[in-house]
Amino acid sequence: MNEPTKKLIELDKKYLWHPFTQMADWLKSEPIIIDSAQGFYLYDTQGNRYIDGISSLWCNIHGHKVKKIDDAIKAQIGKVSHSTLLGLGQTKSIELAEKLIQITPPALKKVFYSDSGATAVEIALKIAYQYFQNMGQQKRTKFIALENSYHGDTIGSVSVGGIKTFHSIFRPLLFETFFAPAPQPYRFNGSKKNCAQYSLDKIEDILKTNSGRIVAVVIEPLVQAAGGIIVHPQRFLTRVRQLTTKYGILLIADEVATGFGKTGKMFACENETVTPDIMCLAKGITAGYLPLAATLTTQQIFDAFLGPVTEQGTTHKTFYHGHTYTGNALGCAAALASLELFEQNRIIESLPDKIQLIKQYFEKIAPLPFIGNVRQCGLMGAVEIVKDKTGKESFSPERAIGARLCSSMRSVGAMLRPLGDCIVVMPPVAIDLDLLEKLLNIIFCSIENELPKIIRKL
Ligand code: PMP
Repeated sequence: MNEPTKKLIELDKKYLWHPFTQMADWLKSEPIIIDSAQGFYLYDTQGNRYIDGISSLWCNIHGHKVKKIDDAIKAQIGKVSHSTLLGLGQTKSIELAEKLIQITPPALKKVFYSDSGATAVEIALKIAYQYFQNMGQQKRTKFIALENSYHGDTIGSVSVGGIKTFHSIFRPLLFETFFAPAPQPYRFNGSKKNCAQYSLDKIEDILKTNSGRIVAVVIEPLVQAAGGIIVHPQRFLTRVRQLTTKYGILLIADEVATGFGKTGKMFACENETVTPDIMCLAKGITAGYLPLAATLTTQQIFDAFLGPVTEQGTTHKTFYHGHTYTGNALGCAAALASLELFEQNRIIESLPDKIQLIKQYFEKIAPLPFIGNVRQCGLMGAVEIVKDKTGKESFSPERAIGARLCSSMRSVGAMLRPLGDCIVVMPPVAIDLDLLEKLLNIIFCSIENELPKIIRKL
């Protein structure tokens, strides 16, 4: 290891606390320090390069150091890096809002900016709740979410999160949410169709027994990403939309992970021509360059917040929410450049070949020993490792099989991060076919050759 790397690791261990990381393990480890990137590769301080196989935690779209995005950010720096949206307009935030409304489902008309996926969801929850308060339906205070869902780490978004490992410790701090089972065909005893119906029935039961108390269903459309790339059966989203309409409640689509091409369409909702009442965007919105998020709503929701500030007899209708960096100009400039690249490079049109390639490799991976299930929706994929293929029994978490396998893939040039024992594949949307094949090949060979060795060593 070179001296600068040694020094950086020492300082990292002295000063940093890493997210979602057991720091006791980190302090014992020899972490990789990323120093630069180019295209779809990350470079560490020792000169090793890695294919960015999880698009820098699911947000990179066009690759790193893409000139058009870098130039757009630089040009914006030359004008203004940030000015507030509280009581002021700002050029780039206006241009981006118009663009977002043009490309998202037709009923969405208004854009409320923030800076991360969690805040986009937090805002969605608060808007949805206050919408009914403003409409005089004060008893509507509860949300429905799916088990194993993930919507971010603020207290509100954790309240609608259903991943026990991450969320259960915080339960006493959270507001009450009703959880319905996620339609998870691999872990369901029965057909795919029954699996979807089972979840839908549970949602409807909650709606019936809590009549007039529910604000919205919050859902990751098509794919529950952090829950382990759980791919919902087809038309599940459509049927949830039908239920929310039937019971007069809102549908909040959290497209933080699925948005910007990952499911093969620009947005997951498009696959089923579903229009939610509220849509949350983040991650890929700036192609992974800067923190920016947006919560989009219908005109009807927006209109319910209009009214004189001093209206007697009712509370203010104003939405009292905002962040210092709401609608940051650099982020908006990056987002606009990214959307231009989507059009210029015909990114969405290029996806079917890549999706097909992932499918081919997953078909080769599925029969290998210890592979319980492969799941794919567009460019979002997961390979689930199990102890016992027939019984679907998992390895105990402390064996960290997924982490060990990803670590072995790093040594052959692929940067991946698992979710437990699910190997997540989520390359940058614009990755070229050759590099995607190289990445998939590393995954295939590692599962075929390294995984049995890792398991044998336990
Ligand atoms: N919603 C979903 C569906 C996500 O996958 C994530 C992040 N993985 C979030 C919200 C939270 O986004 P952020 O990390 O930007 O707060």
